[in-house]
Amino acid sequence: MTMAVSELVRLCKLRLTPVAGEEALQQAKWIVGAVIGAEPAALGVHAWMQATQEQIAIIGELLERRLTGEPLQYILGEWEFMGLPFYVDARALIPRQDTELLAETAIKRIHERGYQSCLDLCTGSGCVGISIAKRANIRVSASDISEEALELAKENAALNEVDVAFFKSDLFQQIDGSFDLIVCNPPYLTLENMQSLQKEVAFEPKNALYGGGDGLDYYRKIAWSYQKHLNQGGALLLEIGSTQAETAAALFFANTTVLCDLGGNPRVLIVEA
Ligand code: GLN
Repeated sequence: MTMAVSELVRLCKLRLTPVAGEEALQQAKWIVGAVIGAEPAALGVHAWMQATQEQIAIIGELLERRLTGEPLQYILGEWEFMGLPFYVDARALIPRQDTELLAETAIKRIHERGYQSCLDLCTGSGCVGISIAKRANIRVSASDISEEALELAKENAALNEVDVAFFKSDLFQQIDGSFDLIVCNPPYLTLENMQSLQKEVAFEPKNALYGGGDGLDYYRKIAWSYQKHLNQGGALLLEIGSTQAETAAALFFANTTVLCDLGGNPRVLIVEA
């Protein structure tokens, strides 16, 4: 039995509606597209193509995974950040579009100020540090406490053909030397946030999400120790939760600026050296 792609998309959308709501059609296109080897936006062109029985069976298995709440990105195994491809799986947090502001701000500063060296702390999938290495001419080091995340980040550096030096380190503990720029998207969800996680987010590593009772544990630790790792004239750029701008900024006895994301929510804290 074969089935036209348009009919498959329609059936997948119906099946996904309970977990994906308004995104069901888009997610159906992603899943069908991934299996038949077409961009979701180009599926119209393939509407009358017949999917084979084998493809239909694979799509069925992917749908079942999605119906358990597993995020679409983990099911697809690859996701885009800053227009670049990244492997994604349960070893690290899925790159969020909100985090592009952190990477964009870093790249802009590197160009404006001629920074030469950058450290990406808590690199996870590597998406921030790798985007910076790809889009700016700068030496990038990246670290994480999780060996599994570092393995994934190394695969992503190879995928994007960039040279990044990776280190296993609990924040600055195993980091030697100093940098012109330090970027970091630390875990910052509060206990309350963790107790009401979206079903999808619960599939992501808890240690990449939880920032202690008030969500600020990592900012506190960074505030104690960043100065000896930051060169004169340099900057520390931190992603923050939308309600943390003032409390996080108050931890740093330095010039700080807050930038908002496209949704108008505070998202990046800049700390000047
Ligand atoms: N922005 C993420 C979320 O809302 C959290 C990311 C983080 O803790 N760094 O799920």
